[in-house]
Amino acid sequence: MSGVNEIRSAFLDYFRRNGHEVVPSSPLVPRNDPTLMFTNAGMVQFKNVFTGLEQRPYSTATTAQKCVRAGGKHNDLDNVGYTARHHTFFEMLGNFSFGDYFKDRAIELAWGLITKEFGIDKDRLLVTVYHTDDQAFDLWKKIAGLPDSRIIRIPTSDNFWAMGDTGPCGPCSEIFYDHGDHIWGGPPGSPEEDGDRFIEIWNLVFMQFEQVTKEQRIDLPRPSIDTGMGLERIAALLQGKHDNYDIDLFRALIEASVEATGVAADNPEHRASHRVIADHLRSSAFLIADGVLPSNEGRGYVLRRIMRRAMRHAQLLGAREPLMWKLLPSLVQQMGRAYPELVRAEALISETLKLEETRFRKTLERGLSLLSDASADLDKGDILDGETAFKLYDTYGFPLDLTQDALRNRGIGVDLSGFSDAMERQKAEARKSWAGSGDTAAETIWFELREKHGATDFLGYDTESAEGVV
Ligand code: ATP
Ligand code: MG
Ligand code: MG
Ligand code: MG
Repeated sequence: MSGVNEIRSAFLDYFRRNGHEVVPSSPLVPRNDPTLMFTNAGMVQFKNVFTGLEQRPYSTATTAQKCVRAGGKHNDLDNVGYTARHHTFFEMLGNFSFGDYFKDRAIELAWGLITKEFGIDKDRLLVTVYHTDDQAFDLWKKIAGLPDSRIIRIPTSDNFWAMGDTGPCGPCSEIFYDHGDHIWGGPPGSPEEDGDRFIEIWNLVFMQFEQVTKEQRIDLPRPSIDTGMGLERIAALLQGKHDNYDIDLFRALIEASVEATGVAADNPEHRASHRVIADHLRSSAFLIADGVLPSNEGRGYVLRRIMRRAMRHAQLLGAREPLMWKLLPSLVQQMGRAYPELVRAEALISETLKLEETRFRKTLERGLSLLSDASADLDKGDILDGETAFKLYDTYGFPLDLTQDALRNRGIGVDLSGFSDAMERQKAEARKSWAGSGDTAAETIWFELREKHGATDFLGYDTESAEGVV
C-alpha cells in the first residue's frame, strides 16, 4: 500500500517519464492575479501560457498543486466533515499540454496511469463526456475499451470548461470510480450524483476553442490539455478506502487530534469534528506559510473563518485550551518534506494558531451560550433570526458560516437576508455618526473604499472571479 507521499511522486514520475517537465506548485496566493482569491486548480499558474501571453521552455508539464477551495465560486467549506471527498485544502495532480498533444494522448496517458501503473479495476470506472463531444466518446471506447453504457454524455456546464467570459474553453471528460451500491449516490448526471457512491477522481479539460466575444467562438489553432486529479481521492482508492479521511495522511492528523483531546473518533459527531479540525489545520497552516494572516477582510478573513470554525469543533470535543498548534508537528511530519515552506514557517504558523485561538476563546464561549439560548426553542426546519446571527458576527466574532455550521446538525438555518439587513443598518448608522466630522471628502472616500473593499468583512469571500478553475 502506498502512502500519499509515494503516490504524489509516482504521478509526477509517470509524467516525467512521458516527457513532461515537473514544475513546482505555485503559492496559494496567486501572483499578479487580484481577481482570484486562492489558487484553486493546477492550471492557475499556467493561465498566460495557455492564452499565449507567456512562453515557457517546455510544451508539456506536470505538477502537484496546492489548492484551497474555501471561497468564491468553488467553495467546499460547507462540505468538509460531511462528504467523503472534499477538503478546503487539497493537492491537485495535473498534466498539461500547451499546444502539444491533445485528446487522444491525454486519454491514453490518464487511462494508462490509473489502470496499468496504479492497477485500478477498470470495471469500476466510468467516464463522462460533454454531450456533443463525439470525438472523446469514440476515444474512450477505443483506448479504454469502455462499453457505451459507461461513457455518460453530460449536457451541463459541469462538462464544459471556460477560463472566463472570453478566452480558451472546451469540453471536459471526467473519470469516476464506483465504490459500490452499499453507499448512497448515483452516477454522474443522475439526481443522486451528489452522493458519495460514484466519486470523481480526474477531470480532463480539452481546450479547443477560444471564446472571442459572447457570440463568437473559434477553433484554437493549437488545442491544449489541462487535467486535475485530487491526490487524496486517488490515495483513497489505492489504499482501499472509500473515504479521503481514511488515508494515511488524515489518519495521522486525526490520531493527533484524538490524542490531544482525549476524545475518540468513533461516534459520527466526534468523527466529523476531528475531520474538520484535521482539514482546517492543513488549510490554515498552508495559507499562513504562503503569507496570509488572519484579518477581517479579503483572504485573511477566509483564513480567520477557517480557523474559528475549527476552534468551535475543538470546543465541541471539550478542548479548553488552544488545540490546533499542538497538531502542527504532526502535519509538518506528514507534509514537510514535500512542502519545505511548511517547515520554514512552522514557528509563525504555530504562534498564529495559538494567538488566534487564545483571542477567540473568550468570545467563543459567550457567543455559543448566546446562540444556545437564542435557538433553544427552535426545531428542525426553523430559521435563526438575522439579528442574532449578526450580533454573533459583530460582537462575538462569529463568521456567518460558523453559526450556520453550529446549527446544521439540528436542521436549523439562518435568515440570511435578515443578517444582511442588520449589517446594512449598522453601516448606515456608522455613516450617520461620521456625518458630523466636517471632513466630507475624506468621509466619502472612506465609505467608497469600505463599500469596495471593507465590505469584504462578510461579502469579500464571494468576490472571487469564476476564473482559473479546472
Ligand atoms: P466535485 O464534483 O467532487 O466537487 P469538482 O468537479 O468540483 O469535484 P474539479 O474542479 O473538476 O472538481 O477539480 C479536479 C479534481 O480535483 C477533481 O476531480 C477532484 O479529484 C479534485 N477535487 C476537487 N475539489 C476537491 C476538494 N474540495 N477536495 C479534494 N479534492 C478535490
Ligand atoms: Mg466541486
Ligand atoms: Mg464535479
Ligand atoms: Mg470536476
